[in-house]
Amino acid sequence: MNAALAELLTAAALAALGAIIGYSLGGVRGMELMLFGIVAFFFARQLWMALKLIRWTTAPLGTPTPSARGVWGAVFEALHRRGRLSAAARDQATEELVRFRRAAEALPDGVLILDGHRAIEWMNMHAEACLGLKAAVDTGSRVTNLLREPEFLDYLDSPDHRGAPLELATQRNPGRTLQIQAAPFAAGRTLLLVRDVTQLQKLATMRRDFVANVSHELKTPLTVTLGFVETALDALPDTPPEELAHYLQTAAEQARRMQQLIEDLLTLSSLETDSPPPLEEPVDGAALMAEVRQEATALSAGRHRITLEIDGPAKLLGSTRELHSAFANLAINAVRYTPDGGEITLRWHIDASGGGRYSVRDTGIGIAPQHLSRLTERFYRVDRGRSRDAGGTGLGLAIVKHVLERHQAVLQVDSESGVGSTFSAVFPPHRLQIS
Ligand code: ADP
Repeated sequence: MNAALAELLTAAALAALGAIIGYSLGGVRGMELMLFGIVAFFFARQLWMALKLIRWTTAPLGTPTPSARGVWGAVFEALHRRGRLSAAARDQATEELVRFRRAAEALPDGVLILDGHRAIEWMNMHAEACLGLKAAVDTGSRVTNLLREPEFLDYLDSPDHRGAPLELATQRNPGRTLQIQAAPFAAGRTLLLVRDVTQLQKLATMRRDFVANVSHELKTPLTVTLGFVETALDALPDTPPEELAHYLQTAAEQARRMQQLIEDLLTLSSLETDSPPPLEEPVDGAALMAEVRQEATALSAGRHRITLEIDGPAKLLGSTRELHSAFANLAINAVRYTPDGGEITLRWHIDASGGGRYSVRDTGIGIAPQHLSRLTERFYRVDRGRSRDAGGTGLGLAIVKHVLERHQAVLQVDSESGVGSTFSAVFPPHRLQIS
């Protein structure tokens, strides 16, 4: 309104000016000149402003709106305000899109969006990694041209693919198993969720194998125990006591094996579930090793020479109970797998990096190189019969590995078939108590 008033006032001022000039010239001429002046002024001004507007509309987005006074000023101001509003709306939409993409990228699963013709519209980084695709190249291609496994095509075609997901081993990512779930959504599009389930599958297999192994390990001594107890019962009336004692002794031996197995299983399970050992509980390594030596000596019953060497401070931080179990397992194995007359050395020393090393060296049967990487697997034995005869459960080194991991330590094995072995537990400096 103000702008229109200003425009009128300008016209009035011009008219007055024209009138004064016209009056000084006199008569009709003066009137004509005045009218001509007013019309020419307005025409020139409208033309100039219209040109300004045209120039501005063809300039790049974001160019400031031209400034003007009067009605044109109000027009430019209104245009400027509209531009600002639409830029804000555009910024907000862009921000939301970026946020959505970031959220989709952050998902731990692969996500693909397919259009009505199953061409890929968008995919996140996990989808690229799981399916061996490249967004820059494969966006726009039909997914069925990239993943050609018949079970995948059948799955996409099946009307009930909303239900159970598909497990797929694809050429695009050899050695991995993927779980794919399709979900149709707006305008014939399909959302594909892809998850790498290789590890989960491995765990499921490991669990199944573990249950089968435990059952098998328990079944044998149980069958033997039952057999001897039944034979003893049958033979009770007319069997000499020495023979009966033999049956019962064998049964008791088998029962002890089962007991040991259960104890080892419980140890493993508590190692898996307990909270990690504390960093501030001091463990007297020297006393621990002396105790372990005594236990090994008792098991050896004079068949081996067992020595203890301690170089440097042997103060550890962690769990005495767990470390005792690991140290004793290594020493007992040395006794089990070293023929009579052999030598076993338990040693502690500080290595060049400032860490501590507990090692058990024996002059025993040694281990062939192809077995070394598998020794810490549960129930893995080089010679099943020998381990069983020696009272082994096949869980000792699995326990050692677990305990060491919980103390950020590692197990090192050096061995030569027929010569002997050295098993070492290597502790990082932060597990040593500096006093
Ligand atoms: P086990 O109860 O059978 O001893 P472990 O897990 O303690 O089970 O050891 C796994 C296997 O590693 C053993 O069965 C044995 O074959 C081998 N092993 C372990 N320690 C030694 C050693 N000091 N010398 C030779 N072989 C060993």
